[in-house]
Amino acid sequence: MEAGEDCCVKVAVHARPLVADEKLQGCKDCVAVVPGKPQVQLGSHSFTFDHVYGSTGSPSCAMFEECVAPLVDGLFQGYNATVLAYGQTGSGKTYTMGTGFKDGYQSGIIPQVMNVLFNKIGTLKHQTEFQLHVSFIEILKEEVRDLLDPSSMSKLDTANGHVGKVTSPGKPPIQIRETSNGVITLAGSTEVSVATLKEMAACLEQGSMSRATGSTNMNNQSSRSHAIFTITLEQMRKINIPNGSSLNDTMSEEYLCAKLHLVDLAGSERAKRTGSDGLRFKEGVHINKGLLALGNVISALGDEKKRKEGLHVPYRDSKLTRLLQDSLGGNSRTVMIACISPADINAEETLNTLKYANRAR
Ligand code: ADP
Ligand code: MG
Repeated sequence: MEAGEDCCVKVAVHARPLVADEKLQGCKDCVAVVPGKPQVQLGSHSFTFDHVYGSTGSPSCAMFEECVAPLVDGLFQGYNATVLAYGQTGSGKTYTMGTGFKDGYQSGIIPQVMNVLFNKIGTLKHQTEFQLHVSFIEILKEEVRDLLDPSSMSKLDTANGHVGKVTSPGKPPIQIRETSNGVITLAGSTEVSVATLKEMAACLEQGSMSRATGSTNMNNQSSRSHAIFTITLEQMRKINIPNGSSLNDTMSEEYLCAKLHLVDLAGSERAKRTGSDGLRFKEGVHINKGLLALGNVISALGDEKKRKEGLHVPYRDSKLTRLLQDSLGGNSRTVMIACISPADINAEETLNTLKYANRAR
């Protein structure tokens, strides 16, 4: 299996090191990254991706440059993009994306995106007018929730060490809509206009805090929701249209609008492994619905033969894929980062993650 050069979806694997808890339990590292190759081995299984990052492969600082920076550049050319972190709970999705408020905004993909974005705006602002908006939502049980809703911020429930969000009563649910020219909008969600890096970081931190978390057997802070941080970049560029004579050049304006979705997906482990029932199990089923639909959409997009035959891409099968519809496929760029734990006790889920990621290619 060779990595496809012109595939519209790039897939990378990010293997974190063993964490202290796993070392205490005597876990062994069962994931091998083949040096110099984007290849990962687990037992007798071997997979090749576009990129593989791990403690023995290329370092994860290369991940931003290779996988994400080109998407930020594309934003300035008007291309929508999506970065997805996939993997079981505890595999490093939140660490990789930077959606955990405890980590501050120093590490992770989103903080790096912000830095690059504002640096670039700084160098271009004399010729272009910029407008930036962010939204931060989560999808839990096929419902969209606003993580930046100002009316719920004062009601954060931090009892028992849990940060939970109280939804304001009577507020209409957020709806995913499609405009006549195929642009997906989120009706009823908070869109914050930001002018500085500091303001954008404050949104990330605020939303991370209000993200719903719950406890399962696997991880107390496990998140069963998909968290989506979206940056919308609008540009008004002044362009000179030469008229033959330099005195009569016409000034014209070019408008571009593009968005970047940064997605910390729900844990990919099977519902049965959470060992819970009732509500929790139902959430698990819904989460799998979103991840299943995402797998189907990405797999349909990656299959060039099917694409040429005008294959139906099943965006409408879940809220997640519906929301990302105009930023997956077409002219947009997508990177999926499959996060894996190297611990032998997680080998079964790691294999599931690698198979899912492999199908996305
Ligand atoms: P997830 O969001 O997938 O549930 P987390 O991002 O919360 O997983 O990571 C689980 C634990 O592993 C955290 O304690 C985190 O700090 C640690 N971790 C994750 N990725 C790395 C990494 N690349 N290097 C060091 N520690 C990591
Ligand atoms: Mg997480």
